[in-house]
Amino acid sequence: MSEAKKGDVILEVKNLKKYFKVGPNAILKAVDDVSFVLREGETLGLVGESGCGKTTCGRTCIGMYDKTDGEVIYKGQKVHELKGRDKTNFAKEVQIIFQDPYASLNPRMTVADIIAEGIDIHGLAKTKEERNQKVYDLLKLVGLNKEHANRFVHEFSGGQRQRIGIARALAVEPKFILCDEPISALDVSIQAQIVNLLIKLQKEMGLTYLFIAHDLSMVKHISDRVAVMYLGSMVELSTSEKLYAKPMHPYTQALLSAIPIPDPEIEKNRQRIMLEGDVPSPINPPEGCRFKARCKHATDICGKVTPKLVEVEPEHFVACHLFDK
Ligand code: SF4
Repeated sequence: MSEAKKGDVILEVKNLKKYFKVGPNAILKAVDDVSFVLREGETLGLVGESGCGKTTCGRTCIGMYDKTDGEVIYKGQKVHELKGRDKTNFAKEVQIIFQDPYASLNPRMTVADIIAEGIDIHGLAKTKEERNQKVYDLLKLVGLNKEHANRFVHEFSGGQRQRIGIARALAVEPKFILCDEPISALDVSIQAQIVNLLIKLQKEMGLTYLFIAHDLSMVKHISDRVAVMYLGSMVELSTSEKLYAKPMHPYTQALLSAIPIPDPEIEKNRQRIMLEGDVPSPINPPEGCRFKARCKHATDICGKVTPKLVEVEPEHFVACHLFDK
């Protein structure tokens, strides 16, 4: 699989599966045979409707969940087999920014203690003064200030809390951050500010992001490449440019057609692709293409054979029988 070039490969995900047993004969296939790589300094957007497995995929990639099968390799080491110093180093280099800035920050801790938790765990400050200075620098970096350090999180707005969450992630000088729907819980007016902050920090610090979101609109702005997931599988993966200019998978086409266009003339005349029904259950999913129940192009083969993710043009991968060679 060739990929958009940035730096060296930092994360390699090979045929990853994450299943949950949810009953005597029921298996929920949250992530089913997903493969991709992430290069240093790039952002890969991972998009799909709720329940498609994107968050489970991201969290399994950073070792928060055990895997069922496949492999996740971070800088040449298998994530689920890390031990001792390697595991500690991984816990420092790989951070997460959560969706809900209300639930993910301890209301009984001051902002300074929340941000400095990782600094303390990893022994990154030798003195109290150095610890304080690091906290002040981090607050400034994310657009807050020194005076915020001794306050509690309930005194802040949603956007400010997410900035605190970002400062906490940055405190341990990470290389790779899983951004787990970091803007979904925020007002639309605040979303762009947080995305712009993440872009600025990436440029300054050379960070790599796996950026999870449920719609394609804001992801375009931050992602070098975008992967679309549907019911546990990756159905399309490409550079942002190609994916938005020429979506190939019928599901991606429908998702993109739902994004409003600011120009009223174009918006009035363009065709919307309506997706009928909800995402089917990932428990005991049927054979063949999992999108077939909602796809207007479905034919016999779609119900029998699962389409593989194949490169149909340079840097553009699609899992759909419409593009079988
Ligand atoms: Fe539609 Fe068939 Fe392609 Fe699936 S494989 S998206 S059902 S045309």
